[in-house]
Formats: sequence, C-alpha cells, structure tokens
Amino acid sequence: MASGETGTVHAWVEVAEAIRATRARTQKNAALTAYLRVLDDADLPIAARFFAGDVFPRHDARTTGVGWAIVRDVLLAISGLDPAALSEAYVAHGDLGDLTGTLFADRPPSGLTLAEAQVFFAGLAAAAGPKGRRTLVHEVLARAGALEARYLVKLLGAELRIGLKEAQVEDAIAAAFGRPIVDVRRAGLLRGDVGEVALLAKHDALATATLSLFHPIGFMLAQPLATPAELVATLPEPFAVEDKYDGIRVQAHVGADRVVLISRTLDDVTVSYPEVAAALRALPAGLVLDGEVVALETEPADRIASFRTLQQRLGRKKPSADLIARVPVAYVVFDLVAADATLVIDEPYRDRRRRLAAFEWPGPTLRLAPTNLASEADAVETAFAAARAAGNEGIVAKDPGSPYTPGRRGKTWIKLKRPLATLDVVVTAVERGHGRRHEVLSDYTFAVRAGEDDPTLLAVGKAYNGLTDAEIAALTTRFEALTVERRGGWHRVRPEVVLEVTFDIVQPSTRHPAGFALRFPRIVRVRDDKPVAEIDTLERVRALAGGTT
Ligand code: AMP
Repeated sequence: MASGETGTVHAWVEVAEAIRATRARTQKNAALTAYLRVLDDADLPIAARFFAGDVFPRHDARTTGVGWAIVRDVLLAISGLDPAALSEAYVAHGDLGDLTGTLFADRPPSGLTLAEAQVFFAGLAAAAGPKGRRTLVHEVLARAGALEARYLVKLLGAELRIGLKEAQVEDAIAAAFGRPIVDVRRAGLLRGDVGEVALLAKHDALATATLSLFHPIGFMLAQPLATPAELVATLPEPFAVEDKYDGIRVQAHVGADRVVLISRTLDDVTVSYPEVAAALRALPAGLVLDGEVVALETEPADRIASFRTLQQRLGRKKPSADLIARVPVAYVVFDLVAADATLVIDEPYRDRRRRLAAFEWPGPTLRLAPTNLASEADAVETAFAAARAAGNEGIVAKDPGSPYTPGRRGKTWIKLKRPLATLDVVVTAVERGHGRRHEVLSDYTFAVRAGEDDPTLLAVGKAYNGLTDAEIAALTTRFEALTVERRGGWHRVRPEVVLEVTFDIVQPSTRHPAGFALRFPRIVRVRDDKPVAEIDTLERVRALAGGTT
C-alpha cells in the first residue's frame, strides 16, 4: 500500500474484507496490525474507531440518527428498485450493508478519504432533521463505490459483522506499536475511545491516560449456579451475600455538574430516571457506580416492587410527572467502579464496599444494597428465602477479595435464582435469523394448547436462543418440509416440532393470543419424544404466571 492511499475508505475496506475472509484470529490480527502501523496521526483514530464499529468516541453523546428508513429511501432512489423488491432483497441478505454492496456491484472506489467519512458522520449528527440526513446520505452513497457503500452503511448501523470484537482491535493496537495489551486495555477502560487509545499507544503515552467520565465501562457479570451447595463449593469462605434485585442494571457516572446513567445495552438512559439522576447529585463528583434501578411501591412506600411494575417506566423515554408519581424508581447501588475520577476496579470487593459505605446515602431513591457475609449452605438457603420473601429474584454471592472485571462473567459473582420452570410447546411459525443466521430458520414462534380437551394452539412467545448451529440446521430442513405458507423470510409451519422452553417469568400480554407471554424464553431442547397432543396447556401457563408451578 503506497502511503497517501492508506487514508482512504477503500484502503480501510480492503483490510475489513481481509478480516472478514478469515476465521483465524491470528490472520485477522496480522491484517489489522499491519494496517494500523502505517496510518498517520489523523487517520489512525478514525480507522481504529471504525474497526470497533464506532463512528464517534464512546464518551461522545453524538449519534448519526440514520436508521433503516433513511438508508432504504436512499437505496430506492439510487437503485430504482421498487420497495417490495428491496424488502425482499433485504430479507435475503439479512444485512443492509451487504445488500447495499450487492446493489452497487461493480461501482469502482470513489477515493473517499477517512477524514471525509468522519466529516460525513459528524454532519449527520449535526443535521437538523431526517430530510437533511437523507440528503447527506444520498450525496455520499451516490458517489461511493460498492465496497465503500457496503461498509459506510454497516457503520451507520453500528455493526460491521466481520468477526472482529473491540478486544481484538485493542490486541492489534498493542501488536502494531509493541505495547503491553494490559496497558492498552486499561487506557481503553479509562478513555472509552479506541481511536484515542491507538494514538496514545503509537506515541508511547498510554500511561498518561486518565479517566474520562460519561462513557460506558463494561459491566461485570454473574455466573449462574443451581444450588447453595455448589455456591459454597465455588467461592472462598466467607463470601458476601446480597439480594438479587429484579430491575435493570445501570452504571451511574457522577460528574461535577452532570450525571449520566448508562444501561446494560450501553445506552444513555439518564432522562428516563430523572429522580435517580437528581439524587445522585448529592454524592461526590468523580464516581462511577454500579447497581440496579428498581420500581418502588407507593403503598407501602419504599418497598421494592416487581419487574412488572418497573416495565411501566421502561417503555418511556421521558416519563411524565404523573408516571413518576405513580411508579417511582430507586437506584440500589452494589459496587464502585471509580472514585475521585480514578478506577478502583483492581481493589478487592470488600475495599470497594468500604468506600461505598463511607458515603452518605440520601434515602429511598438512592440506597446502598445491604451485604452480609456467609460461609455455609444453610445461611445461603436462609438468605435466598429472605430475598424471595422481600420480592427479589434470588441472591448474588461474591468473593470479597475479587476485583471488578468489566465485561466478564467470572466465577467471583455467583447468582442463584429459583429453580427454573419449563414448558413444552409446539412451533407454529419460524423466521430466518439475522447476521450469520440469515440463511437458517432460527427464530421460532411457539404455542401451547388452549385446554386439555381443546387442541387450539395459542402462541405464547418467540425464542431464538439455546440451540446449537447443528440443531438449527437440522430444524431448518424439517421446517422447510413443514412449511404451509411463506411470506418473505417468515414461514407458517405445520405444528409438529415440540420444544422444551424455559424463561424468566410469565406475564400477561395483549400481544399474544394466549393472553400471556414468556419473558426471555430460551430453548432447553427439542422434544421429539413428546407428541403435540401432550404439550402444556394454557392452564399451566396461567398457573406459572400466578407463581404456582
Ligand atoms: P442475570 O440478569 O440473571 O444474568 O443476573 C445478573 C444480573 O443481576 C446483573 O446483571 C444485575 O443486573 C442483577 N443484580 C441484581 N442484584 C445484584 C447484586 N446485588 N449484585 C450484582 N448483580 C445484581
């Protein structure tokens, strides 16, 4: 690659295609490493960010505001296809970027530079409305070559799908500039911008990175275990035991004059929980907290309410004063990620908790989760029963000596939930999946029988998870043969395939004919041993919704 050409989108795309073409991590790493090394200081951060699937630094609140509708309009205008043909082609590809590349096939590279691409994305973020954004997208795509367009659209969708994770971009940065990977990772956690980290690595300045607040830091995750005995066998004694709150995980960043709440999906949810954001202002600046937002009962006040109650708040981006009064929420804090704008993740949990305990917790809306030490299965059992009685989901036990490991499911946090109930159901409709699953029928709508003597099938949910690729491939063949009606990637199938599914809870639903829906359904196994006539009935679903198995 001659220098001067390295800073084009096309040169970036060639590397992306090389990474996509191989499954071998070492080859992906080699391609990326060689490329990053030759970029100049202006292009390096842009290129690195793009490989992480980001068009802006993570701590930057800007978004392009371009969704499927705008891209579709532009593709219709440029390609001259009719909307139905475009939808059909989209279903066939399962990825808008890949579809764009196909529509633009044979168009040569335009010479668009990385800097121009960056200006394009910034322009979208600054555009006043969808019309302005559509014009910008049209201008750039009308000019772009097939591969450039393919990847610009993928970047707009924030997903490259070339089998590259952000951690691998960090690996390549470390390799490209000969820096220890731990230094690169740490700078990444602190800065929240892989582009800036690449530049720091290049100039041997990783050690100068300080914490920038307001960008998501990966959440530490818990490992599930089934019994108190297993838990005792896994954690060193004594271990910390806490209630497992059934709400939504939130990371709170407290600055001098700004508070930001970040969800598990890494979205900024600050405006959704104004009472939490307001309460956090009472705490010192420079904190990053980890905890759960839960709903509260209004009567008796301050008692934690069920997830179902919280759902009334989840659907609302900006809750009305009335909704806030009817469904108040609280933030229950259980960990500390940073204090005084310094990461404390390497300190043992007991020390992080000690720091948390020293703050003044203002009250019901913002509280510290109680934690107790336990050593034996009996004590775990008692804590579990108490947590359930208090309306919580179960317990989480933690190794007091463990560091906070962002983004990892370690063996130092163990969750214990009630034993899972399962339902035997039959598949009534199937759909193609997304991404690498768009070739197979991997999304299953399933139903139960209306009653012991009523064979009517009532849908209660849709599951995507739990089966291996081989099982999905085998089911795809079966479902093709069972198809009775087909619309795009959707098939109605003869109800013959019985699945055993598990789920978190059963809740009332107006969307499903059964009047109930399963939350987070997962497939346990295909039950070829069970005839459809013997699958579960609506009555059992109703019993599960009421809490009696
Ligand atoms: P699960 O969502 O079933 O994978 O369980 C892990 C989740 O439990 C975490 O992501 C948190 O959202 C939630 N959680 C509730 N209470 C706690 C707690 N005391 N400590 C850690 N995680 C908790």
